[in-house]
Amino acid sequence: MLNIAIDGPAGAGKSTIAKGVAQRLHILYLDTGAMYRAMALKALRCGVAPTDAEAVPPLLATTEIFAKNVEGVQHTYLDGEDVSGLIRTQEISKAASDISAIPAVRIKLAEAQREVARLSDVVMDGREIGSYVLPKAPHKFFVSASVEERAARRLHELRSRGEYIEKTLPDVMDEIALRDHNDSTRAFAPLLRVPDAIYIDTTFMTIEQAIDAVLSRLPNQTEAKE
Ligand code: C5P
Repeated sequence: MLNIAIDGPAGAGKSTIAKGVAQRLHILYLDTGAMYRAMALKALRCGVAPTDAEAVPPLLATTEIFAKNVEGVQHTYLDGEDVSGLIRTQEISKAASDISAIPAVRIKLAEAQREVARLSDVVMDGREIGSYVLPKAPHKFFVSASVEERAARRLHELRSRGEYIEKTLPDVMDEIALRDHNDSTRAFAPLLRVPDAIYIDTTFMTIEQAIDAVLSRLPNQTEAKE
């Protein structure tokens, strides 16, 4: 199977890049962050704090999360309900970051992600795909950009949805720095740049340039799928 791992911090553009690479190769794209977001929504709906390492694991047995591509767009289902539109709020971003630090959550979601990679060619993006979920993936990338550029992109995205328009760039930079810190310092499967991942700095790149940067590093037989 053609497994491509794209890791990086929040706002680096990795999901847009991963989506674009998957489209160009005509293979599946799996947004693993959406699965953590769905789990965070489940906890909040059950009145459980996403930081509660005692109360969250028992919820896993009765939680079903899966992702399905509908005409090239990922839809994320929580217990049979399409929650794709509900998991993009700032509240869920923070809750997903918190819940992702709980090992039992990571173990369950990583198993589901490995199963996808076992069954199909896939571009998967996340924080630790290359280091923990698919350590043997033949193609690994680590995508990043400066905190300021990532915050500017996030602010633009939020504003285009009419959310949090009162926030300033420094506010969003602080939030991003906090998420980076949470993601990189958690004890279990943190955000990690593994030595065999190709590093791509997207600070001064357009999305198309970043997609080309990934594609140009894949062996020819994978691009031949186009
Ligand atoms: O990528 P996205 O911002 O949607 O992810 C939401 C949160 O889920 C991240 O802040 C991160 O804490 C967590 N996450 C993770 N591992 C992944 C994907 C996301 O811990 N593979």
